[in-house]
Amino acid sequence: QKKAWTSLFFFFFLVAATGQTGPSTPIVRRFTIDDFEIGRPIGKGKFGNVYLARLKKSHFIVALKVLFKSQIEKEGLEHQLRREIEIQAHLQHHSILRLYNHFHDARRVYLILEYAPRGELYKELQKSPTFDEQHTATVMEELADALTYCHEKKVIHRDVKPENLLLGLMGEVKMADFGWSVHTPSLRRKTMCGTLDYLPPEMIEGRTYNEKIDLCCLGVLCYELLVGNPPFESASHSETYRGILKVDVRFPASIPLGARDLISRLLRYQPSKQLPLAQVLKHTWVQAYSWR
Ligand code: AMP
Repeated sequence: QKKAWTSLFFFFFLVAATGQTGPSTPIVRRFTIDDFEIGRPIGKGKFGNVYLARLKKSHFIVALKVLFKSQIEKEGLEHQLRREIEIQAHLQHHSILRLYNHFHDARRVYLILEYAPRGELYKELQKSPTFDEQHTATVMEELADALTYCHEKKVIHRDVKPENLLLGLMGEVKMADFGWSVHTPSLRRKTMCGTLDYLPPEMIEGRTYNEKIDLCCLGVLCYELLVGNPPFESASHSETYRGILKVDVRFPASIPLGARDLISRLLRYQPSKQLPLAQVLKHTWVQAYSWR
């Protein structure tokens, strides 16, 4: 086990921040916990806690995610963590949560993350269960742009849903949880069927899938933001599965026609029939309502 952890940290180049500009100033050395002033806890995950923190030297504010090695090893998730770090560290996009760096000590792994001051989109939805057209179209445009970037880099998120979306200071979306939450479904979601709601048909049927599965999640999210619940939510898992496979989407009268058109084009049984991301960005409803 020790070897695995050691190779992880040799494998990824560690860059420490000592300047004023942020944690990616290219001075090569390892971070330690002593480089940080630790502030209040901002969240609790399955494997550890997230703290507001700042670098002592530069006062650069970050979110420090502290994961316990014992818990990750117990669940056999070293591989997934490695992948999350590898993927997220290489993505630099304003709608993707930055993973600046990472380090470890005997018991813990620390992820140095961009701080998203407004927390989870999921929590925002609990306060006001629906978004208006402007807000929803803006989220769609931000995510379509971020996913275009990911797909160009051959990265499929696979788990776009409100629990995995954080919010910046101005409410801008920050996609998080790469290659990770797909293996550790969130227990925080309180819907009857949990995370089943965002599963694409090809995943349920065990068909091979490609980056198009992210488009399905985008369609489900658009519906949930406008209606207040995901389209296939139902009392039992089997009913949800059935709804997803039949693409049985029922639109309340309140859903504007433009949004209905976009959602219908994203939720398709055949991935080849889904609207490509470039067309999502150009979609007339997105263009008409997005603030971007
Ligand atoms: P996680 O373990 O990633 O599920 O994170 C647990 C909680 O910490 C989440 O529900 C968020 O509310 C919060 N959190 C995680 N990462 C950040 C971040 N970078 N900025 C702000 N809050 C965060």
